[in-house]
Amino acid sequence: MQDCIFCKINKKEMPSYTIYEDDFVRVFLDIHPSTNGDCLIIPKKHIVTIDDVDEELMLDILKVIKKMRTFLKEKLDCDGLTIVQNNDYGQEVKHFHIHLTPRYLKDGLQHTFNKDHLVNPEDVYNQITN
Ligand code: 5GP
Ligand code: ZN
Repeated sequence: MQDCIFCKINKKEMPSYTIYEDDFVRVFLDIHPSTNGDCLIIPKKHIVTIDDVDEELMLDILKVIKKMRTFLKEKLDCDGLTIVQNNDYGQEVKHFHIHLTPRYLKDGLQHTFNKDHLVNPEDVYNQITN
């Protein structure tokens, strides 16, 4: 994809602070980090949402996420790891990516989801299952 910034990063046409790569994925630091070590894992091939991720690739990604959790813990002494992935709405870059955000006891990071929705889970359950 010609205009995709993450494809450009993969092709090294744009710089990145890559901290891990193999034949299928790349992990690099987010340009606007939420916490120390905030990074993104992307497939090397251009795909847009989770709909396009086949099982084999998903397994590769999952293995690298687990590897990165150990690595980030070791290198940055973080206290946790938050994993977020946006599809369509809320997705700024249209190349599939997963946010890996190291957490620290006093990082002050607010939960990004609004927990004030006045929705009754029973109503939603009925809507989904009917
Ligand atoms: P989204 O909102 O699509 O889930 O997240 C996109 C992420 O990509 C954002 O956290 C943003 O800071 C990051 N980002 C956007 N452009 C660049 C870039 O050129 N380089 C890097 N390293 N990160 C980027
Ligand atoms: Zn792309």
